Amino acid sequence: MHWPPTQRDFEPLRETLAWVLERSPFYQRSFSAAGIRIGDLASYDDFRRRVPRLAKAELVADQRAHPPFGEFVTVPRNRFGSVHTSPGPIFIPRLAEERGGTPVLKEAIKAMGVRPGDVAHVTLSYHIMPGGLRLHRAFEEAGCLVINGGTGNSQLQIEVARAWRATVYAGTPSFLANLADTAKQMGLDPRKDLSYRVGFSTAEALTPPLRRELHDTLGIELFDHCGEAQIGPLAGECKVHEGMHLHAADLFCEFLDPESGAPADLGGIGEIVATQLGPRALPLVRYAPGDAFRLLKEPCPCGDESLRIVFVGQVGVIRKIKGVLVHPAQVHKVMSEFPELGRFQIIVDHPEGQRYDRAVLRAGTVQPIADADAFKQRLAARLKAQVLIQMDIDLVAEVDVPEAAAGPRFTEAMVDRRHS
Ligand SMILES: [Zn+2]
Repeated sequence: MHWPPTQRDFEPLRETLAWVLERSPFYQRSFSAAGIRIGDLASYDDFRRRVPRLAKAELVADQRAHPPFGEFVTVPRNRFGSVHTSPGPIFIPRLAEERGGTPVLKEAIKAMGVRPGDVAHVTLSYHIMPGGLRLHRAFEEAGCLVINGGTGNSQLQIEVARAWRATVYAGTPSFLANLADTAKQMGLDPRKDLSYRVGFSTAEALTPPLRRELHDTLGIELFDHCGEAQIGPLAGECKVHEGMHLHAADLFCEFLDPESGAPADLGGIGEIVATQLGPRALPLVRYAPGDAFRLLKEPCPCGDESLRIVFVGQVGVIRKIKGVLVHPAQVHKVMSEFPELGRFQIIVDHPEGQRYDRAVLRAGTVQPIADADAFKQRLAARLKAQVLIQMDIDLVAEVDVPEAAAGPRFTEAMVDRRHS
């Protein structure tokens, strides 16, 4: 789909809504409470302005009130094909014919250069959660021979991967590192004795050093992917490895300004709101898990025209400073270029009589800094280039910055004094 959506992108969404409204008591109630009839929704803009968002807490509360599946479900339970569980626990029934995320995964797998005949070794958990089984099905649909590795049993997994000459790894990067260590302990040379060519990395951050290390050890090209527990798989890297293409073949994804709710601009940051397309046992309409993404503006050199996104972090800690949305994770990324620095806080205020907000970065230091002024100038310039705002820098000892300011949650990293 395109961003912002075209009328053509909107049509399948409207068909799905009509299907859901005929069947799901939860949505019948929520649409009727909001005074919406399907005929009122003529464009994406009507949909965005009128249809309420759904938070994870509402899904959990509805399942608790009407156990076990809640009133979201669209079919009687004898039509369910399987049931997955996600943390909460939230029960996710699936229709036998529901493809459960595989259309997205198939595109992502294709973008990695996986070919029919490849041997895919899937090491996500197959237990209870949907991850392993979902990837397994997608690699089967892509024409691969699939090994159901699951988690643990590293030594046996190495033996199986070696015997079958697995060419594709799918799972977390840390488990791949664990497999490489195990292979060495078994007296093997991971580069020579294992045949992994490409890897589907998911469920964990793939940091640049880890990507390099795994490439050096195994000769593997890793492709980073993202998704969300309820929505499922979302996007993945192509061979250019700059951002993840939104492979949302069975999703309608919105990216909205966290403050105004308006469609985010290309180049800016947007909060994801997703609606599942097609018949589902438990359909999600405008599900908002609170994740923020940066939308890349430039077309990808690989030729795939689908939108590219970069995960930024949880939306709750984003602040608009001098008109620019800033997430502490972006600042953290710049700070991590400087080994002298540790935790930080951003203090935003609006000085009396001034036209603009002021942002002060309290940068916690973990090493002595010889020329503080020159250092502050360098840091400010990097921040201006990467985060797009000018910040005043205040160097403090790291112990003076609260521990709750640290990532990945950054709970106390933003101190907003503008409205107090
Ligand atoms: Zn690309």
